Amino acid sequence: MDQQSSSAPTADMPRKRPELPAWTFRVVEAADVRPKLRRVWFTAEGIEALQYKPGQDVVLFLPLENGELGRRHYTIRGIDRDKGTVAIDFVMHGNTPGPNFAGNCKPGDTVEVKGPRGRVVFNPEADWHLFTGDETCLPAIYHILETVPAGTKAYLFLEVQGHEDEEAITTEADANIEWLHRGDAHPGPNSIVLDRLSSFDLPQGRGHAYIIGETSNVRAQRHHLIARGLGRDQIASEGYWRPGRNGGHDHVDD
Ligand SMILES: Cc1cc2nc3c(=O)[nH]c(=O)nc-3n(C[C@H](O)[C@H](O)[C@H](O)COP(=O)(O)OP(=O)(O)OC[C@H]3O[C@@H](n4cnc5c(N)ncnc54)[C@H](O)[C@@H]3O)c2cc1C
Repeated sequence: MDQQSSSAPTADMPRKRPELPAWTFRVVEAADVRPKLRRVWFTAEGIEALQYKPGQDVVLFLPLENGELGRRHYTIRGIDRDKGTVAIDFVMHGNTPGPNFAGNCKPGDTVEVKGPRGRVVFNPEADWHLFTGDETCLPAIYHILETVPAGTKAYLFLEVQGHEDEEAITTEADANIEWLHRGDAHPGPNSIVLDRLSSFDLPQGRGHAYIIGETSNVRAQRHHLIARGLGRDQIASEGYWRPGRNGGHDHVDD
């Protein structure tokens, strides 16, 4: 058999990433969930075929001011298989394409979407689970926790502006949630979660950490956990946003 056939990647041939599935999402409904959080429910032709792992996101192609479309990552907050709808939570942080879309969309509006994608998903092998993030990460963290086995040991350190941004959770996990308030400070690079992590005694057994949010915060927390003995393979981390970056995501693997 010809091992060098054109379809079989070889060592010196970069493996091409498979194209993500494409969808046309149609808005069904949109509503404010909290003062700075708006949930949009979408449907799509063939939605019953959408398979994903809680924690994964999709890329939305949203209208920009210049009339072009820009890529924005948003987590799948949940799916209602009976109704054929997918929910996405938009943090209404400013006058930018994501919040503008969520704030103005009407039933019937459509948006092109690719996905699902993403590696920040539950690791069932771990004895305990550590989650950190800010408002943009609650959809991923909460959706993961809604679906984990009963008794899963989870520790959450969640940075939000104040009480009004906290979210009640329905989970069978043994979840310890600590809300860390930023108060009047702007969201962005800070040491709020890192400081709390520094005084967190890592539990016995093999843990897995899910570290997401503003990129420099994610990197600092990842380095801190590595310095305390967690292996790189025990940390799933991704930069969800950072000041000055428009859309996209940052790999934080160092
Ligand atoms: C895998 C993944 C999943 C994500 N899931 C969600 C989700 O479910 N819900 C959600 O709301 N976001 C989520 N995000 C974050 C979201 O993609 C970014 O915040 C994105 O920048 C929002 O696009 P935008 O049009 O609002 O702002 P952009 O046009 O992308 O950014 C403009 C500027 O706004 C500022 N900015 C961007 N985001 C924030 C923020 N959250 N707070 C304060 N300032 C900000 C930055 O300075 C940026 O340069 C996710 C990101 C990733 C990578």
